[in-house]
Amino acid sequence: MATLPASDLALAALLDEYALTEPARACERPAGAYANCLAVSALCAQWLRERGVECGLLHFAGSRAPFPDGSGRWPYFDPRQVTHWTVRVGALSVDWTARQFRPAAGWPDVEEVGSIAARWRLAMDWACTRCPQLVADPRHLELTPPLLERAHRDIARATDGRGAFPDPRHDDTAPLTSVCRCADGSSR
Ligand SMILES: [Zn+2]
Repeated sequence: MATLPASDLALAALLDEYALTEPARACERPAGAYANCLAVSALCAQWLRERGVECGLLHFAGSRAPFPDGSGRWPYFDPRQVTHWTVRVGALSVDWTARQFRPAAGWPDVEEVGSIAARWRLAMDWACTRCPQLVADPRHLELTPPLLERAHRDIARATDGRGAFPDPRHDDTAPLTSVCRCADGSSR
């Protein structure tokens, strides 16, 4: 095993523990990970903060590559319109829902922020480490309804990826915009 700094080992142990929780377990399979990126990232960040880990959320938009093996609408959907969220801990991105795009991805998929950011057209700190609030509406913390993945896949197939793709958690709440109002908007 590679030698990791003590802080990384502590994070790895915490992520092993978080993997036992319901939100994380929901994302172990690709279909369960589908459209859960914001909810599970925010729940994980809250959980890590309760244990003293400084963290925030990362937001990505516009994938540079398609997702032919993805779940739900992703194989049919314009990759430039895909959005994604992960947890930022220091220089690392912790991605519990990577399997919605790549079934063989890690769970969680932990990588340098720069490495994941290179695969997206836009990468930003959605909520910095000082943001008390991680999402605009508490419903954005809810996990995907079980049939959403299949429903979105059927719609995508029938509409050549164009949708619309209803989501009962988001459709009548505030738009998915960053709630970070901190001075520099960055996490360091
Ligand atoms: Zn902030």
